[in-house]
Amino acid sequence: MATIVQKYGGTSVADAEKIKNVAGRIASACHGGDRVVAVVSAMGDTTDRLIELAGEVSSTPESRELDALLSTGEQMSCTLVAMALKSLGLDAVSLSGAQAGIRTDSRYGKARIAAVEAGRIQGELEGGRVVVVAGFQGITEDMDVTTLGRGASDLSAVAIAAAIGADRCEVYTDVEGIYTADPRHVPNARKLKEVGYEEMLEMASLGAKMQPRSIELAMQYHVPIMVASSFVDAPGTLIHKGADMEPRVGEIRNRARAVATDRNVAKITVTGMVDRPGISASLLEPLTDADISVDIVVQNASVRDTTDLAFTVSGDDADRAFEVVRTVAYLIGANDVIRTDNLAKVSVVGAAMQNTPGYASRMFRALADEGINIEMITTSEIRITCVVDADRVSQAARALHMTFGLEKPD
Ligand code: ASP
Ligand code: MG
Repeated sequence: MATIVQKYGGTSVADAEKIKNVAGRIASACHGGDRVVAVVSAMGDTTDRLIELAGEVSSTPESRELDALLSTGEQMSCTLVAMALKSLGLDAVSLSGAQAGIRTDSRYGKARIAAVEAGRIQGELEGGRVVVVAGFQGITEDMDVTTLGRGASDLSAVAIAAAIGADRCEVYTDVEGIYTADPRHVPNARKLKEVGYEEMLEMASLGAKMQPRSIELAMQYHVPIMVASSFVDAPGTLIHKGADMEPRVGEIRNRARAVATDRNVAKITVTGMVDRPGISASLLEPLTDADISVDIVVQNASVRDTTDLAFTVSGDDADRAFEVVRTVAYLIGANDVIRTDNLAKVSVVGAAMQNTPGYASRMFRALADEGINIEMITTSEIRITCVVDADRVSQAARALHMTFGLEKPD
């Protein structure tokens, strides 16, 4: 008898019919002999609607009250799922995050899980009940309700799976799994059978969107996650450690797994800075203070004691970043600050590509053959990223998908 945690996203519980469908799926897992803890998100866009509602009564809703309000979305769906299960003849119980023992710090809106006191969940399972837990929420030492950040029902599910030593965590959503590329850009993108945790962290845009903290937690506690659709019966994608294992001697394995894209990138270039210690720090520290995260940073080799520094930020932060950097650039006597919008990142992702020669040069050649200019390049152990014109990123993704043979089965 396996113990499994099943997580159902907002689209899977969007209305009464869909809730009954979810109950049916849980029931068939139970009839197959599994013990099930189901973790659910709020119905459809309930969380967005609650945020809007709060905004209508107050321009600055207090974070403690807002979290208590938002937690009701998941309480609605978990109670309804429990009722639907009972009407199918199963013994079920719903638990709020607090009742399920999800203890958090008190950073409202982005609380971190300090511990899962799983006694209640374990007791209910031993009593033969299906446990339906409200995702996305927990409780502080002072018994105040917190939420864990947008999309964090995934995190609740993984944390519970780790705490009760579940055999696996299944995440049900409205897509069938994780793909070799975004199917909207690359028509022959293929669903992956399996993917490594680190790879998954780089592939946030490819099909199912898992909350990144949930993947980090799963990696830390070795929780395998199966991502699949709650609407069709099709094998999903298994996110686990095994996908990163070494190939056998003599086996040539394609280390490229996927092409990831991010269209919302802006570049800021500061030219003619005097090249002395501390110059990059004085430029980037004010961005940290403004809570703007800088992604790719490139500093040129200096010519006649001056240098240029270019970095990318999310397009959403571009206005603020430009203002901050203009002020600092003036103070440190830089020549000019240039802003380039409408950029995108395209990455080839695959564990251990760095230890296998040739991937980077093949990537650059493929882009060159398409006449696509590369603005910036960065690499990590598991990805090679190029910044390109946003209008060419689909074309780039298609070319790379073909170059690395990703349409072929694993
Ligand atoms: N309902 C929450 C949100 O919309 C949490 C989740 O869906 O995972 O962000
Ligand atoms: Mg989600």
